Amino acid sequence: MSQLSEDQIQALMQAAHAAYAHAYVPYSGFPVGAAVLVRDPERAEPLIVSGCNVENASFGLAICAERVALTKAISEGLRDFVAVAVVAKNVTPCFPCGTCLQFIREFGADTEIFFEDTQGQRVRHTIGAMLPYAFTAKDLSATAAQDLHPEGEQ
Ligand SMILES: [Zn+2]
Repeated sequence: MSQLSEDQIQALMQAAHAAYAHAYVPYSGFPVGAAVLVRDPERAEPLIVSGCNVENASFGLAICAERVALTKAISEGLRDFVAVAVVAKNVTPCFPCGTCLQFIREFGADTEIFFEDTQGQRVRHTIGAMLPYAFTAKDLSATAAQDLHPEGEQ
């Protein structure tokens, strides 16, 4: 676990709650807010970048709050993620979906995920613990492919 201060964690959770208010969810009525704590090499303290889920009349185009927050940070040149907080209305805990787990895991196994349980108590796990068998860049290497297909097998 990282050495996040209580103030940092609270600020992250508050940012996720604030982002939740901007969710565009006319179809599901299921607003979600997320916030990421990301290191910026040009600053002493990590930054918080938030996101909300955004739906579309073409349902498959909907994007989750977590991926909005991460892509906002990445588009600003920031991808050294420390933590991600996720909150949703009337649904606790609100776990990231499988797509978001994979998306977050792309940037490291140690990123922490914060959410609240049904009593409103904070829960934290690393992304590596939540998605232990993630598909990663190493799976794309020729060596990994050979491991999966020993001599002669395809
Ligand atoms: Zn998701």
